[in-house]
Amino acid sequence: MMKVLLSLLVLLRNAEGFAPNSRVASSGAVSSHSTTTALNSWFSGNKQKEPQPGKQQQKQQEVCTVQILMSDTGGGHRASANALRDAFDVLYPGRIQCDIVDIYTDYGPFPPFNSYVEGYKIMAKYPILWSIFYHVGATPLGLALNEWTLETFCFEPFLKCLARHSGETNKRADMVISVHPLTQGIALKILAFLDSGKKDLAGRQTPFCTVVTDLGSAHPAWFDSGVDKCYVPSDALVEAAKDRKLRDDQIVKYGLPIRKGFWATNDGNTKQPTQQALKKQLGLDQSLPTVLIVGGGDGMGGLVDISKALGKALGRSDTKSQMVVVCGKNEQAKQQLQSNDWGDGISVNIQGFVNNMDEWMRASDALVTKAGPGTIAEASICGLPCMMFSFLPGQEAGNIPFVEESGFGKYSGDPTVIAETVTSWLTDPALLREMRQNALKAARPEATLDIARDLAQIVFDRKAQTSASSAVEAKVRVR
Ligand code: UDP
Repeated sequence: MMKVLLSLLVLLRNAEGFAPNSRVASSGAVSSHSTTTALNSWFSGNKQKEPQPGKQQQKQQEVCTVQILMSDTGGGHRASANALRDAFDVLYPGRIQCDIVDIYTDYGPFPPFNSYVEGYKIMAKYPILWSIFYHVGATPLGLALNEWTLETFCFEPFLKCLARHSGETNKRADMVISVHPLTQGIALKILAFLDSGKKDLAGRQTPFCTVVTDLGSAHPAWFDSGVDKCYVPSDALVEAAKDRKLRDDQIVKYGLPIRKGFWATNDGNTKQPTQQALKKQLGLDQSLPTVLIVGGGDGMGGLVDISKALGKALGRSDTKSQMVVVCGKNEQAKQQLQSNDWGDGISVNIQGFVNNMDEWMRASDALVTKAGPGTIAEASICGLPCMMFSFLPGQEAGNIPFVEESGFGKYSGDPTVIAETVTSWLTDPALLREMRQNALKAARPEATLDIARDLAQIVFDRKAQTSASSAVEAKVRVR
């Protein structure tokens, strides 16, 4: 009788989504970014910091699967998801398979859910519209309404997404990671349902972590006290997480996850090409200081007007310089700027979407940018002073004090002031040097690998637990 009961119990608990693991244990206080760079240990082949497989894992190093939830609202969410996937591949080749999904576009049942990407593009062009949407959504009523609409209309379609087979396996993911503000509460509820058959959050066993991809400020929807871990890049966001009732042991501060090209710069071990070599490679004049202009992945924030005004001002200046404008996916801006008459005073290089932003940044002396979190974090790693010309109200507003207080940049919405400020930087090598040092101090080039290590430990532990329970089940079956 006991044997039958035990068999039933184990079978029930191990049916897909009913694994017997306890929730991921959280421990320790708010972690600060590691003092020794993770890159040093990685490049020198020191694997001591890597999560070490337990006995069970050593026996069978199974592939773990991770689903990363995001939506392509702006370029940053997918960039961070890809960065985490690349970090897993570098640290644990072949051991973690990632399933990156734009859950709103692919599984949203109808507009506005499945058209957030287009909606975001339109609102980003009209900051007032975005500001209203953002700030109303950040009120307790707005947050509750969002939760209610998601549960009412998206629970079933999103359930299909979270239940889908992950990687090359025939099971759903061993862990879910969110890199988007609108994929916390609903995903936690769905996981609880998949794990226990009920929406009660206490029934969730599949690990769920949030990796915040904003920098100096973030929408409250990013922070859900039901998560196992919430990775944030700055002190301001540690506080924002605490305001939303996350415990210290849930909050981990490393930095922003950014793409591989930016990981290895100031670790001292890896040789970067010199600025001169990069200028040559990119077809730039090696003798001229370079100003890089960027408006995020979508080339937003009034890129055309700022570029024209800055081109005029730099062209008039006694200090000769060159300007590179990266228009991202904004084809219209690219065409407008390509057909502009820039005069003889300045040489201008117009690019569309580039895949080698790290090289363009390292070839440049100053950056003029929308206050996008990804671009700012990348610029700090390259020691690039930032002149910010616009910001999206809400999530990008906090990036301005982040840069100004760190001492590597300024904000102005006035093209004349922007041009004067950048010209004054280019003519003051001592100031440029100081700002460069400040940028490097604020930089977190090791963050992506640190976050990936933590997440890997969580999914490896989870896998070990499920493997152990499967072994018990097999034993019971044999008897
Ligand atoms: N980016 C890029 N190529 C381009 C333009 C931008 O790779 O042509 C990248 C940029 O390096 C950064 C991201 O797109 O990683 C933009 O993110 P950010 O958070 O700055 O702004 P968003 O596009 O999300 O508003």
